[in-house]
Amino acid sequence: WEGTSYEWSDDVKSTLENIFKIKSFRPKQLSAINSTLSGEHAIVVMPTGAGKSLCYQLPALLRPGLTVVVSPLISLMEDQIRSLTQKNIPAMLMCSTSSKDENQTALKTLTDDKTDIKLLYVTPERFAKSKRFMSNLQKCHAAGRLQRFAIDEVHCCSQWGHDFRPDYKFLGILSNMFPKVPILGLTGTATSHVLSDVQKILNIPGCLVLKTTFNRPNLFYQILEKPATQEGCLDVLEKLLKYRYKDESGIIYAHSIKDCEDLAQGLRKRGLRVGCYHASLDADTRSKVHQKWHEKIYQAIVATVAFGMGIDKPDVRFVIHHSISKTMENYYQESGRAGRDGLRAECVTLYRMQDLFRVSTMVFSNNGHLEQLYGMIKYCLNVKVCRRQVVAEYFNENWGNTDCNYMCDVCIHPNKIIREIRLEEHIKNLAVVIEKAEKKEIKLTALKLLDAWFLKGPVNIRHDGPDPGLKISRLVGEDVIAYLLIKGYLVEDFHFTAMSTISYIKCGPNMEMIKDENFSLRMLVRKSSAFN
Ligand code: ADP
Repeated sequence: WEGTSYEWSDDVKSTLENIFKIKSFRPKQLSAINSTLSGEHAIVVMPTGAGKSLCYQLPALLRPGLTVVVSPLISLMEDQIRSLTQKNIPAMLMCSTSSKDENQTALKTLTDDKTDIKLLYVTPERFAKSKRFMSNLQKCHAAGRLQRFAIDEVHCCSQWGHDFRPDYKFLGILSNMFPKVPILGLTGTATSHVLSDVQKILNIPGCLVLKTTFNRPNLFYQILEKPATQEGCLDVLEKLLKYRYKDESGIIYAHSIKDCEDLAQGLRKRGLRVGCYHASLDADTRSKVHQKWHEKIYQAIVATVAFGMGIDKPDVRFVIHHSISKTMENYYQESGRAGRDGLRAECVTLYRMQDLFRVSTMVFSNNGHLEQLYGMIKYCLNVKVCRRQVVAEYFNENWGNTDCNYMCDVCIHPNKIIREIRLEEHIKNLAVVIEKAEKKEIKLTALKLLDAWFLKGPVNIRHDGPDPGLKISRLVGEDVIAYLLIKGYLVEDFHFTAMSTISYIKCGPNMEMIKDENFSLRMLVRKSSAFN
């Protein structure tokens, strides 16, 4: 799609330079533009910040008629309209917070062949809920003025994605109702099962997929041991913010609203300038917090994942996860908000086993898929393979021989901090604890299992083997349990209670299998996981 010269090629080039003031395309942008101008359906897959918007904004200007852009968030649309207005590109949005007049005007642009509007931004529920909108859209089409549909954050169609929006399902009607109108989907989610699901839902199976590499060479990745107490976490965060990230801007992601508020308050007490951002703050407060961060009045925002789409700050120098993300896709999106300016930025995750269970019960309660969370755990437990490699494998990508260039903790750590432990004896002892607990009808949480295995807690479920503490620390013990879980030797067993969901641990099918066999299992762990 890039080598050929098209009748529109000269216009594309001059529009890029004169209107967007950009000298050259980034990878796959020109392919996306040429394919959609040729009338092909396509999905563009690029990491955050790569420049997806240009792929539909530029073609929108080349021909008479309208590009209808579907976007999930009003704030995202407002940002886009602002940046288009700065470039003197006429664009409009239509959403629940627009006034009646604004919506009327927007509706009229669909049927008015004199309008100068080139891009009309709408939320997906328009297609499901507004008859007027649909009938005007049909009129626009009949007049030959409907140029294309651009569907931003197109992974929102799929339940497998990390941001499922039920209203996106209705977009499946577009390819049938308007068969000649090209659809251009855009997303930063790369997994192939999400992509094929999206194609199925939009009725464009096998359409062109334009994907750039997801490797972000300027991002440094690191896992840190998460202290057991909130005070301990605050110590770590304080050190990071005061020394490592002095005078730099960043985001701290926390699991819950309560964590967010506690951490923000704790950091403020320690003299740091941080804001707090989550879904239960009103829109006005949220936008003020965002603004103060932009103006560097706040060094960092402590946020839930509600602080996400639409962040357009290029110089985010650090993204710290106080708690793991629910999937590797989520992690990559969230951490990917760092370093959009291409300069070095750091993505640090505080990991500890308890968080696994906090997140897994939430994932389970929301009918999510645990395999995806386990992918995240695999990333955290890894001590041997370059973190970029783990990510590439997760996204079924081959980043070739791309040198990490010492841009992850695994690649900068000398091998001597890693040690190998044999798991046979540990597994046998764990199996004994589980068996005893089952016989006594005691349900084991991960912590209870850990206690009994380390010969603590109720005597009647302890095993008779030696104290594992002689060979491994309790922290390594946590890693062993997490490892056995993602390998299927142990499994989580979820129980609903009136208040919440609890995850207990029992033997997985693989554990049954290896108990009697002469097996040899090895695991690599950190010799020392001191904060550094
Ligand atoms: P995405 O939607 O993929 O996260 P955006 O479309 O918001 O990314 O683009 C991110 C930034 O990159 C914007 O500031 C945009 O102007 C800029 N940009 C896009 N394409 C190019 C290009 N070819 N050259 C230079 N800057 C670009």
